[in-house]
Amino acid sequence: MSPTIGLPPPCAETCLDTSRVSRFLGGTLIAEDVRDLVEHVRRMSDADAYRPWRCPACGHATLHVHSRPERHPKREPSLPPVVTVLQFRCADTECGATWRILPLFLARHLWHAWKTVERVVRPSAALPKATAPPVPAQTERRWRARLGSTARVLCALLAASGGAVLTEVAMIVGLDATRGALVDAFQQVVGGAAGERLSPLAGLIHRLERGLRLM
Ligand SMILES: [Zn+2]
Repeated sequence: MSPTIGLPPPCAETCLDTSRVSRFLGGTLIAEDVRDLVEHVRRMSDADAYRPWRCPACGHATLHVHSRPERHPKREPSLPPVVTVLQFRCADTECGATWRILPLFLARHLWHAWKTVERVVRPSAALPKATAPPVPAQTERRWRARLGSTARVLCALLAASGGAVLTEVAMIVGLDATRGALVDAFQQVVGGAAGERLSPLAGLIHRLERGLRLM
């Protein structure tokens, strides 16, 4: 599905370059209910707790543990320097897609935990700064710039998802809002724990359209 509501359709060349077949040879799935290290460690001790019930690419019901990649969340005192995750491989030989399962608290692509990002861009009492190593100014600028960029595609995606709550979020911010405004509207409507504004929305966006990023 592409978030095209209210937006011009993608050009034909783009469709050709990003056919679903080539896109869905695997990727990352976010375990949206794994919000802390304790739950992550529990699931790592029992691969079934993380194993997808079917391959998202072909629907095959058997996936084997393929590897245990390491993630290195930087500058987060509440996490160890290395967090191991699981990667599964579809047992269907025609498919062979591999799926990396990421707990919600690790930010895909950012080399940080969401908590670290949020401490910088949305500081709150729930995220004490005193014990956290400072983030380089350039990294902070990059994060702020991303939150300041347009949320148009993301809002269209939420509105197109069909859920009343998500449509409400999209309506509140409108198509001209920034990603930061979308983050705040999402928390206002959906709620959530203090210090966890970014990760639930990031996980949701990834579920609705793999490849799209909040930041
Ligand atoms: Zn498969």
